[in-house]
Amino acid sequence: MIISMRQHATRAEIDHVCERIREFGYKVHSIEGEERVVIGVVGVGDVTACLESLEATPGVESAMRISAPYKFVSREFKKDHSIIRVNGLDIGGDEFIVIAGPCSVESEKQIMETAEGVAAAGARMLRGGAFKPRTSPYDFQGLELEGLKLLRKAKEATGLGIVTEIMSDRDVDMVAEYTDCMQVGARNMQNFALLKSLGGCGRPVLLKRGMSSTIKELLMSAEYIVAHGNPNVILCERGIRTFETATRNTCDIAAIPVLNELTHLPVILDPSHATGKRSLVPALSRAGVAIGADGLILEVHPCPEKAVSDGAQSLTIPAFGQMMEDLKPYIRLWREARVPETWAVA
Ligand code: PEP
Ligand code: MN
Repeated sequence: MIISMRQHATRAEIDHVCERIREFGYKVHSIEGEERVVIGVVGVGDVTACLESLEATPGVESAMRISAPYKFVSREFKKDHSIIRVNGLDIGGDEFIVIAGPCSVESEKQIMETAEGVAAAGARMLRGGAFKPRTSPYDFQGLELEGLKLLRKAKEATGLGIVTEIMSDRDVDMVAEYTDCMQVGARNMQNFALLKSLGGCGRPVLLKRGMSSTIKELLMSAEYIVAHGNPNVILCERGIRTFETATRNTCDIAAIPVLNELTHLPVILDPSHATGKRSLVPALSRAGVAIGADGLILEVHPCPEKAVSDGAQSLTIPAFGQMMEDLKPYIRLWREARVPETWAVA
């Protein structure tokens, strides 16, 4: 159940509602927004009796039953698609957003050249890892604080908002100071300490699907962030691990319309990690536009053969420019097909 309190509900009314919920044997999870308090009711109890009682309790605007285990992120809770504002840009709105940049921030020259190149080609945000989750401890781990500072420089030069990965709850304040959007990578999708700490980070979160995670698990992870106070979550399909070896991961392209049915949160596609091969990135990008993603996040490097990570899946700057050009007719159709009513729960 979700209980929405009236806009000017008093503290006493809110406390009373919480008390009533507990009397019915449920746990209370309240989110105090700027405009109103919304209370998540979780646990096992007599739903009908509790709903009826709360609907008649002073200060309550509405009480609704949510059958999904993820409450705040479900379409049942909110029918309209959410628009997440990042550095003045609306993700989930009527612009198809392309986020591009290197896998890792490597040097000032590399990030500046990439930022300028992708901005000129129409990217609306810059990506780049300063903390890298690498399979081998002997591989490049990222420039860390120096990388964050270089990202800030690139933002100053181009105006592009920044998305960068956060790997540990210990680094939240530092990363939040330098970035516009906090990326949770596939390997940390179920780092629950990190998810909880992002509830209070004050920045939107780009949550990537774990490589062995179900769509439900992805939504439960998003629920962690929202339930801890941060409603600004963008989801990302980046491929999952299957028996197939022709691509680095298997892109679960259907996850995008599935998510659009189940959640109001914006969903973007990462065709770079989903394929692992730059030759496949344009085709999968077109698929992402056609299937109704809200945007793309992909890897671009000025000299992929010299990249310290993910060179094989990184586009050169000219190839990215060509791909953006080729995507234009698809994006035109995307805009025409964007009828938000079609997302409503059937
Ligand atoms: C990345 O974006 O560079 C990255 C490590 O992605 P993922 O977490 O999806 O593997
Ligand atoms: Mn990468």
